[in-house]
Parts: sequence; structure tokens; C-alpha cells
Amino acid sequence: MSFKLKVITPYGVFYEGDIDSLNVCTKQGYLTILPNHIPLVAPLAIDSMSYKANKETRVCALAGGIMYVSSEETKIIANACEYKEDIDINRALEAKKRAEQRLEHKTTNINVTRAEAALKRALNRIETFNK
Ligand code: ATP
Repeated sequence: MSFKLKVITPYGVFYEGDIDSLNVCTKQGYLTILPNHIPLVAPLAIDSMSYKANKETRVCALAGGIMYVSSEETKIIANACEYKEDIDINRALEAKKRAEQRLEHKTTNINVTRAEAALKRALNRIETFNK
């Protein structure tokens, strides 16, 4: 038995298709979605996400977002999403370095929340790449 997953980012449709299971990290903790899951809306954390389709598991880095589970489909609106295989590790390492430097040399005009979020995205890409 399968169910529909659609993942949308500001850059386009990341995934649309039938899957067997989905593992996501909500702001309340890890959750596995299987067919016929109860309807749900949950904010998603910056973390890895994985789904199984046609006996194959795909692992992605998800930059936070929101998930809607209904009887028809599961929809994720994400800030960004990349498959593990598509992660540019050097870019993520550079982004990590930039964010750390911004947080180290705090000045009144730097946006700490923004730098912290950039650091979380970079660390998540690095962790997902190394999985
Ligand atoms: P950077 O500062 O390197 O742009 P960022 O965290 O600000 O990182 P995002 O705004 O989250 O980047 O994403 C912008 C676009 O770039 C998205 O399409 C995202 O999938 C892609 N992207 C960001 N970092 C990477 C990476 N290390 N490897 C592959 N794609 C990436």
C-alpha cells in the first residue's frame, strides 16, 4: 500500500509521487508517516528527511517547513530540500564557516537569528551528506 507525497520548495516541485513511508523531523520530534495516517499539520525542523518508494530509500536534507497530512496526500512546503547525493559539501562547509564568523563577530547590525538559521541549514547538509 502506498500514499501520495508532494514536496514543494520556493525553487519548484521537489518530489511528487507515490511512496510507502516517510520519516520527518517535526518541531515536536521524529515522525513516521504510513498510509492512512491521521490528518495532521506539523511544522518541520531543519533536519534530514527520508522516504521509501519502490523499495528504495531516498535521504534528503530539509531546510524546515510545514507538513499537511490528509487522507488524500501528504504535502510538504519546505524552505529548501536536496537529495543527499546532490549536496555540494564544499558549499555547505563554506556556508557553515560564514555563519560561524558572523556569530563570532556579532555587531549591532548583524542578524543573529538569520546567522543561526544559516548555520543550522549548513550543519544539516553536512550531517545528511555524511549519513
Ligand atoms: P548558501 O549560503 O550556500 O546559499 P543557504 O542555506 O542560504 O546556503 P538556501 O537558501 O537554503 O541556501 O537554499 C538556496 C538554494 O540552494 C536551494 O535550492 C537549495 O536546495 C540550494 N542549496 C543550498 N546549499 C546547498 C548545498 N550545499 N548543496 C546543494 N544545494 C544547496
